[in-house]
Amino acid sequence: MTSIPFINLKKQYELLQADIDRAVNTAVSATKYINGPEVGQLEGELAEYVGAGHCVTCANGTDALTLVLLAWGIGPGDAVFCPTFTFIATAEVVALRGATPIFVDIDPITYNIDPADLEEKIVAVKAEGKLRPKVIIPVDLFGLPFDYERVAKIADDYKLLILEDAAQGFGGVYGGKKAGTLGSAGATSFFPAKPLGCYGDGGAIFTDDANLAEVLRSLRSHGSGAEKYTHLRLGMNSRLDTIQAAILLVKLAAFPNELDLRQNVAERYERALVGVLPFVPAVPGGRLSSWAQYTIRVPADLRSATIESLKAAGVPTMIYYPGCLHLQPAFAQFGGRPGDLKKAELASNEVLSLPMHPYLTADEQKRVTDALLEGLASAASAAG
Ligand SMILES: *Cc1c(COP(=O)(O)O)cnc(C)c1O
Repeated sequence: MTSIPFINLKKQYELLQADIDRAVNTAVSATKYINGPEVGQLEGELAEYVGAGHCVTCANGTDALTLVLLAWGIGPGDAVFCPTFTFIATAEVVALRGATPIFVDIDPITYNIDPADLEEKIVAVKAEGKLRPKVIIPVDLFGLPFDYERVAKIADDYKLLILEDAAQGFGGVYGGKKAGTLGSAGATSFFPAKPLGCYGDGGAIFTDDANLAEVLRSLRSHGSGAEKYTHLRLGMNSRLDTIQAAILLVKLAAFPNELDLRQNVAERYERALVGVLPFVPAVPGGRLSSWAQYTIRVPADLRSATIESLKAAGVPTMIYYPGCLHLQPAFAQFGGRPGDLKKAELASNEVLSLPMHPYLTADEQKRVTDALLEGLASAASAAG
C-alpha cells in the first residue's frame, strides 16, 4: 500500500512548475544572486499581504528572531518569556544572546502561551529582582495566532515588548490582523515545511517601526551603513537568497488559495473526528489558523501503539513536540524540573500531528481517520 505523504511539496511544485522554473531561470541568468531585485519585490509584497509597514527578509526564521533581539539590545540580565511547548528556536535565540528564557505553560486547548501563567511568571521575576523583564515571545503554534488581546494587555501593563514567533502562523488571522503583525515585531520562517515555504532556508521580520526596520537591514548585512564597508554595529550575514525570493514570489501568489484548501482539509478532519476524539483542534472565535499542523491528542499510554498501526496502514504521523523546552538538556542551566509546567508536559505526551497540506484529498483523509480510529481501538484493547 502506498503511503500518504505527510506534506506534499512535490504536488505543489508540479502545479506551480512552469512559473517557478521561469522565475528561477530568470534569477539565475541575471546573476544578481545576493540582494537581486526579487528580494525587494518580495519584501514589498509580503508587507502588503500581512499589512505591516516594513518587511525585512533574512536567512531563516531563527535568524529573524535573533536579529530582533540584537536590534533591541537583549542580553545578559534580561528575562524573555516564552512558551515551553514550541520548537527550540523560540528560546534558543534568547539563551544564545546571554539572556534568560523564562518558560511559561500553555493553554491546553490552543497550545499557545497561557496568559495567566505568563503574568504569574512576570510577577515572580520582578519580585525576585535578579533579572529585568524585557520581551515576550508568544508563538502561533501549529498556525493558530496566540491570544493577542490578553498578551498585549500584559505587555502593556508591564512595559514589555512582544516579538511574535509567527514561523508557523504565516497566513493566520487574529481579529482582522494577520499573523506577523501581532507585536512590536514578528518573525516568520520559509523553511520548506512551513505554510509558506521556499526551496531551502529563508525568513522574514515584520514591523511598523521604521527605525527598527532600518537597524534590522543593517544587522542582517554585517551592521553596514549606507556605505557597504562602513560598519555601524556588529551584525550577521543573514540575507534571503535572490533565488529563494524568486520562488517565494510565485508561491505567495498561490498562497491565498492554498490557505483556503488547508481550511477545507481541517474542516474535513474536524467532521470525522469531533465527538469521537476528546481533543480536536479548536479555533477560538475571531481567529483563523494557517493550519501548519493538524494536531490531535490521544491517551499517552496508547500513543506509540497507535502510531505503529497508522504507519502499518501507510499513514505517517509526527509528534510536535515530544519534549518541553524547560526539560531539554540544552536549557538545563535554567533549572527546569518535571512537573513545573504541567499542561505543556501533558500535551507533549499526548499530541499527534496528522498529514496536513493543501492538496490532501477527501479519500486520503478518510484513510487517515479510519486508520486512526482503528489504531486507537486496537491499542486500547491491547492495553486492556
Ligand atoms: C520553524 C520554526 C522556527 C525556526 O525557523 P527556521 O527557519 O527553521 O530557522 C522558529 N520557531 C518556530 C515555532 C518554528 O516552528
